[in-house]
Amino acid sequence: MTAAQTLPNFIGGTWSWSEDVESIGVTNPATGEILVRAPMSGASEVATAAASAAKAFRSWRRTPAPDRIQFLFAYKTLLEENLEAIARTITLECGKTLAESRGELRRGIENVEVACGIPSLMQGCNNEDIARGIDEHMIRQPLGVVCAITPFNFPGMIPLWFLPYAIATGNCFIIKPSEKVPQTSDWLVRLLAQTGLPDGVVQLIHGGKDAVDALVEHPAVRAVSFVGSTPVARYVYAKSAAHGKRAQCQGGAKNTVVILPDANMDMATRIVADSAFGCAGQRCLANSLAVTVGEARNSFCETMADTASSRRVGFGLDEGVQMGPVITGASKARIHRLVGMAEKEGVNVVVDGRDRSVAGFDGGNWVFPTLLDGLPPDGDIANTEIFGPVFGLLHVDSLSDAIRYINGKAYGNMACLFTESGAAARQFRYEVEAGNVGINLGVAAPMAFFPFSGWKDSFFGTLHAQGKHAIEFYTRTKVVVERWPHEWSRVF
Ligand code: NAD
Repeated sequence: MTAAQTLPNFIGGTWSWSEDVESIGVTNPATGEILVRAPMSGASEVATAAASAAKAFRSWRRTPAPDRIQFLFAYKTLLEENLEAIARTITLECGKTLAESRGELRRGIENVEVACGIPSLMQGCNNEDIARGIDEHMIRQPLGVVCAITPFNFPGMIPLWFLPYAIATGNCFIIKPSEKVPQTSDWLVRLLAQTGLPDGVVQLIHGGKDAVDALVEHPAVRAVSFVGSTPVARYVYAKSAAHGKRAQCQGGAKNTVVILPDANMDMATRIVADSAFGCAGQRCLANSLAVTVGEARNSFCETMADTASSRRVGFGLDEGVQMGPVITGASKARIHRLVGMAEKEGVNVVVDGRDRSVAGFDGGNWVFPTLLDGLPPDGDIANTEIFGPVFGLLHVDSLSDAIRYINGKAYGNMACLFTESGAAARQFRYEVEAGNVGINLGVAAPMAFFPFSGWKDSFFGTLHAQGKHAIEFYTRTKVVVERWPHEWSRVF
């Protein structure tokens, strides 16, 4: 692929783009090199994709579920065979290390595997004789055309939170990936097309806000799945509701980890540092704030400082690199500004990752691990999603204070606790207001057969991505009550 090449959309089984659509350069965050261009599609491309999906739906919904999943079995094999090449693409356009790219793809493939169980998973239920000689059934039917709008930070995994379930349940699907990382979705859809999936069952539309607005407004699109920042999640959710659509919108986070004095500090530091600095802190399940309780304060701060300053930062394809760049120059500038604001709030910058460089990669968006101690609990920094390798510490006297602190915050994506006490773990699990909870874990990412359960400002909707929630989201229930008069039933 040359730098000047513009990626095509995939509509109705054909790869194409309109000459009059503008495109933007997609850059490698480690070098600043333009890899490819992404077309910024608008209402016209979305309308063509929606019409093609609506047409394909007529026969796709009549394709028996055991036949539909044969395409997913073939897809899983193709994803496995091409895992290394796709992982390299993720690293090149997103910046994370190759190991992280492989890992996210594995988590994506898990969803393809779970969706292969659709014939059982989408079964309905029934009762005979709800009244004498009358039976009642609940069946699940697909919605029609559905779409997903995805963020830059997991270009391989997040489209697969939706696509396999949507098509396995009999819907036709439109994916609109982040314009910052469009090549990974190009890969995902090219492999799917190789399975012989009928034309129109899946479409790929590249673009930004215009494409999103057009998808949400289009009358043929019945459901919207969104993952991204909280302001956009809130906007897409409200707009979907205004257009009478089903929506699940996952937003941002500020995930807190609580460290009790009885925690194994070596283990806690290693795991929390991996969570905070893995993927350069650009994970919606990154620990970005620690609340240390009592005496945990000093030991945890010291060991975190050592771990933060020894992390090897560089180009994600290079051997031994533990952390890549952040996604854009704008993102780097924003992170610098937020660390500057923290200084103004009186925070101690224990490890400063600003103004650092990686030899041979002058064009990269480098921010090194940064550790901030003594955040004011109600200050801006303790409440802002930084989305970079910046980890903050604040201190309280008891577990109950820590839980009260977390529960008073706007986000509720994940909360973690490090302890050796079962009673403390139970109190935390029971009382904390977050949809994903980790006990002695730093990234409590649900497996594909569990819902990805964000709460509060981290999620707008009812049914989350993955597992049984996905089946419910992508189907509507129909209840049939029937009477068939019969001589035999009258006799007995
Ligand atoms: P983003 O909100 O900027 O973009 C997400 C998607 O929305 C993209 O496809 C983008 O093209 C589109 N978009 C952007 N601005 C828009 C607008 N004004 N109107 C309509 N559409 C718009 O998010 P991002 O920077 O790509 O991703 C990072 C964010 O995603 C972080 O906040 C992170 O926490 C969040 N995230 C959440 C989860 C989760 O499961 N809760 C998972 C991954 C990422």
